[in-house]
Amino acid sequence: MTGRAHGLSVFRSDSRTEPLQAAATNRAALEPAGLGARVAEANHNAVRAALQAREAAAGHPVAVAGSMSSFCSIAMYGRGPAAQEPDAAAEDPRFPSLATFREQAALLADAGADLIALELMEAPGYGRAAIRAATETGLPVWLSIAPVRNDDGSLGTDPELGSGLSFAELVRQLATPDLAAVTVMHAKPDVVAEALGVIREHFDGPIGVYAESGGWAAPNWVFNGLTPDEYLLEADSWVSHGAQIIGGCCGVGPEHIRVLTDSLARPATGRTSPAPG
Ligand SMILES: [Zn+2]
Repeated sequence: MTGRAHGLSVFRSDSRTEPLQAAATNRAALEPAGLGARVAEANHNAVRAALQAREAAAGHPVAVAGSMSSFCSIAMYGRGPAAQEPDAAAEDPRFPSLATFREQAALLADAGADLIALELMEAPGYGRAAIRAATETGLPVWLSIAPVRNDDGSLGTDPELGSGLSFAELVRQLATPDLAAVTVMHAKPDVVAEALGVIREHFDGPIGVYAESGGWAAPNWVFNGLTPDEYLLEADSWVSHGAQIIGGCCGVGPEHIRVLTDSLARPATGRTSPAPG
């Protein structure tokens, strides 16, 4: 498995989506590591682990999301000189292709995933391919994008995984009405409120957040970020900005999720957000 993973733990009103192991299991990530023959095995094992976790989590409905991301060697080592070319992310063959996403989507669906979560979708080219491949399974599809704060204060997209588009332009191009949800992921908490507002301008369905806490220092995530109670305070503000799905990405652990669940996920508290629209 590769070093940087995006674990999604979310809930929405009375149902929850359990943590899924989103360490990259697409062919674009595994083949350069000499593991191309094990793509099917890796995806099936990941879903099976999540299904087993669901069985252990009695007492509430749980959905299992199968993740497909843009993760490939570029995420670890950068894009090099190609990063300077306009829309290079759409052309760079190191990113997963439509065929790669189709292979993984079929594996995840076959293994029993209830929905497909598309993560780190930072460019229109492979983003559209991922949406197409995921939609072909017939499962609900969530789109997740990681916004970054540019030096000029505007909201942008990951410079290595994207094409230099503004966050708003990328959302405009990818957030199609047939998606089941659009979420902000793997983002600093202080960009989330603005990002939610941008998504809401372009998408009428459920929106959500799973932010990060701490920081990346290759090859590991540094867990020095918000405490569970501090993260809950942020989550409260995201709910007030319309988020209906809340979870955690890098640096957000089981204790954070427990506090979120105890505080936000009980319908009786009246703290779930109203229906979209
Ligand atoms: Zn993350």
